[in-house]
Amino acid sequence: MTDDSLDSLLSDFWNWRLQQSPEFATMAGSKLYNHILEEFTEARFEADFEACKVFLARAKALGSVVGSEEKEELEFFEAEVETFVEGFPHGGYFFPINYMEGVQVDFQRLTEWAPPSDLKDFENVIARYRLFPAYIKQIVGVMQKAVSKGLTNHACSMKGVVDKCREHLAGEIQDSVFFAPFKAVNELLGDEAGSKVQEEAREAITDGMRLGFSILADFLEKEYVPACRKDVAVTSLPGGQELYKACLRFHTSTSLTAEEIHQRGLEEVKRIEDEMRIIIQELGLKLSLEEFIKQLRNDKQNFYGSAEELLGAFHTIIWDRVDPQLTKIFKAKPKGALEITRTPLADYPAAFYIAGTSDGARPSKLFVNTHKFDSQPKYEMVSLSLHEALPGHHLQGDYIQRDDWPEFRKVMEDRAYSQAPTRFPINTAYVEGWGLYSETLGHDLGLYSDPMDRYGHLSEEIFRACRLVVDTGMHALGWSREQAVQYMMDHTAASKENIVGEVDRYVTWPGQAVGYKIGQMKILELRKRAEQELGEKFDIKEFHEVVLKAAGPLDLLERKVDEHIKRTLSS
Ligand SMILES: [Zn+2]
Repeated sequence: MTDDSLDSLLSDFWNWRLQQSPEFATMAGSKLYNHILEEFTEARFEADFEACKVFLARAKALGSVVGSEEKEELEFFEAEVETFVEGFPHGGYFFPINYMEGVQVDFQRLTEWAPPSDLKDFENVIARYRLFPAYIKQIVGVMQKAVSKGLTNHACSMKGVVDKCREHLAGEIQDSVFFAPFKAVNELLGDEAGSKVQEEAREAITDGMRLGFSILADFLEKEYVPACRKDVAVTSLPGGQELYKACLRFHTSTSLTAEEIHQRGLEEVKRIEDEMRIIIQELGLKLSLEEFIKQLRNDKQNFYGSAEELLGAFHTIIWDRVDPQLTKIFKAKPKGALEITRTPLADYPAAFYIAGTSDGARPSKLFVNTHKFDSQPKYEMVSLSLHEALPGHHLQGDYIQRDDWPEFRKVMEDRAYSQAPTRFPINTAYVEGWGLYSETLGHDLGLYSDPMDRYGHLSEEIFRACRLVVDTGMHALGWSREQAVQYMMDHTAASKENIVGEVDRYVTWPGQAVGYKIGQMKILELRKRAEQELGEKFDIKEFHEVVLKAAGPLDLLERKVDEHIKRTLSS
């Protein structure tokens, strides 16, 4: 007999997670550890590994005593912890910095996640600034070890990183991003306390933040960048074959091999191009696919005339065309609010979604890149809205904020992608597969009657299909970076600049980009299976409920759908 219970296991685990990763705690909306930073040493990750083995053993012991509902919870819990345990030997923490991630771009987000509002909050921010040099020394220590083991990024993953660190050293403290949260402090705390806090912040930025970034910039420039791997393939690293396999397993949550994924990609690209050709015929045009794409790119009619026009189009599609129809295919609409807002800078994707906190303190947001309004094709808008907002990431993100769900299922650690596979899951295939599957729901919702909107969906889809080909191509099949760029140029309508950026991302996060298509194909396959086996008994709302409830790895999703089919057949 055990004295343990599922509740205490889950709450012990969650408290431990927040404690081990104070930055993640801040992101999750907890204020408990806002004054400290994580320990970034090999010893810490080894301790995490040991702790997770204990959590797993507790879960296994409970498995034989709990009821069926709790058993289901345990399955998701075990998958969560097993992901870390399985990924641990591959040392994902040896790659903490690249051009998309790392302290030089992420540290400032801590105060965006938790904007300070009282004296204690401001003091916590200052305390973190003061700890920064010690934290940097730990990161440098781990990266020095990585260099000695030959576990480094390719130089394309490090472009601009040293400059970014040096940017934080330049200019007046007053203009530093790290001073920004303190600018209006007097309004919140009064002149006297406010000025004192500002003084302390200035000191902490000089002695903490700037000292840390100068140490990091010197290390990267003198030691790390010269030691970067020469080959783009992660498989060229010591233990790289196993590392790439583990990355694919982490991001797809399946055991598909690189060769299988590559082959599926080639087949999907062909299928999508065939469908595109049918649309060109439907439009009554006598053009090759290449000529058609060229014409689309050069026709100003296909793009927006102003930022307001673009923002307005998102509002119209999401609130007038999609939202009123949602309950045709879903049991309920999202409960939480969705704000449609502009990205602060131009250097962002066309649109992206950020989930709010489960207490509603921070609403969910769809960020629209209004800076690049004149390069956002109108025909991709329906697809983009379905993916990023409704029913895509917002409905899915809102669904998991259920009161009766444990915290580990509600909050995904949407950061530190480069530490895959040695980290807790981000469920790439499930989350992004759902996004891409949602794009196909435009058919169910009657939103693709205009052939151009349907073309837009296919053009978004082919991008994800190409990723299957080039990610595996570069990491497992000996493709060069140039070959990958050329393949994307030949099969997508994106600009060369965008494609080079994409390819560098695939080099930097091996396997991440294949999750989207693999997840979508799995959800579509399961829907087809349910439709065929259930016939008249198939109910799209029920099917979507099962999928939404199974947020996690794809093998668990598949098992849940199979159970649903069996249950429905026997009812
Ligand atoms: Zn997405």
